Amino acid sequence: MSSTPMRPGVVTGERYRDLVAAAKDGGYALPAVNVTSSSTLNAALEAAAKTRSDIIIQLSNGGAQFYAGKGMEDDFQAKVLGAVSAARHVHLVAEQYGICVVIHTDHANRALIPWVEALVEHGEQFYRETGGPLYSSHMLDLSADDIEFNLGESARLLDRMAKIDMSIEIELGVTGGEEDGVGADIDESADNSKLYTQPEDVLQAYEKLTPLGHFSVAASFGNVHGVYKPGNVKLRPEILKNSQALIEQKQNTAHNPLNLVFHGGSGSEKAKIHEAVDYGVFKMNIDTDTQFAYSKPLKQYVEENTGAFLHQIDPEDGTPYKKFYDPRKWVRACEESMAARLHEAFEDLGSLGKTVARA
Ligand SMILES: [Zn+2]
Repeated sequence: MSSTPMRPGVVTGERYRDLVAAAKDGGYALPAVNVTSSSTLNAALEAAAKTRSDIIIQLSNGGAQFYAGKGMEDDFQAKVLGAVSAARHVHLVAEQYGICVVIHTDHANRALIPWVEALVEHGEQFYRETGGPLYSSHMLDLSADDIEFNLGESARLLDRMAKIDMSIEIELGVTGGEEDGVGADIDESADNSKLYTQPEDVLQAYEKLTPLGHFSVAASFGNVHGVYKPGNVKLRPEILKNSQALIEQKQNTAHNPLNLVFHGGSGSEKAKIHEAVDYGVFKMNIDTDTQFAYSKPLKQYVEENTGAFLHQIDPEDGTPYKKFYDPRKWVRACEESMAARLHEAFEDLGSLGKTVARA
């Protein structure tokens, strides 16, 4: 039970900071689910509502573009408007689901800084209209650039975002694998040090960003985007522990001062997930596993209703197939499967049934 009861709905600003603190104090983390459509988004909200668990909804730039529609000619506008549209959808419906919802955007590398800036501009507009930001937080992932550029740009954007009560997520060290064309290859032969965050870099980030506003750090401890064959990934959560310890010691802070984010959570060993949560991870991204869960029921559905995918009416007895090919039928099967997979994610992260929302 949390000591921080909140009104259900989107949480930003102080309520977001309290939710992060509640997760860390309670020893659990929230799943951050990548969504690309109102269907995947609603499936995530449904899973949270049914299990009485709080959730983070996030969109990558590609997910946002898909949300706006692949037919929109201007890719950049689609990435901006899709992200705005999804966030407005969540603001409209979240309270009815009865749980707390964080809205966030995923990886934005150097080329996507204008995307984040355009979203902050929409956030400022939303703030003027409602008194709160459109998004709880944005991620800026400049881990492929040098640390000076990474922290300089992160500080510049956090300074602007903090004025409308937003938080920022930065990345130090490179998450392996690839997501939406953003990310690094896992090259066994290459120097692997970038795949593991250096505690000294985390300290530098802490010192630079703490005076400006609320932030979280996606740290690399061998995690990769996507699911690979076992043995390919060596998770070393002690890297997170070492980063926390260095800051505790140098800055004389309380236990686990950093808000840490676990990218590439799909396919991870449960024991390593628990260990990472112990070291201050409050958010674990999940995309690949929920994509698979969403797509999986289709095969069986099509096999059981083959005729309905070939004809509008049964060629022999003339029975209409409408109720089988209606997209709501098979899309619903996908949503239910994705929601079931998220039930497992809440369980793994210890957040099952732990909503801080009180009507
Ligand atoms: Zn990631």
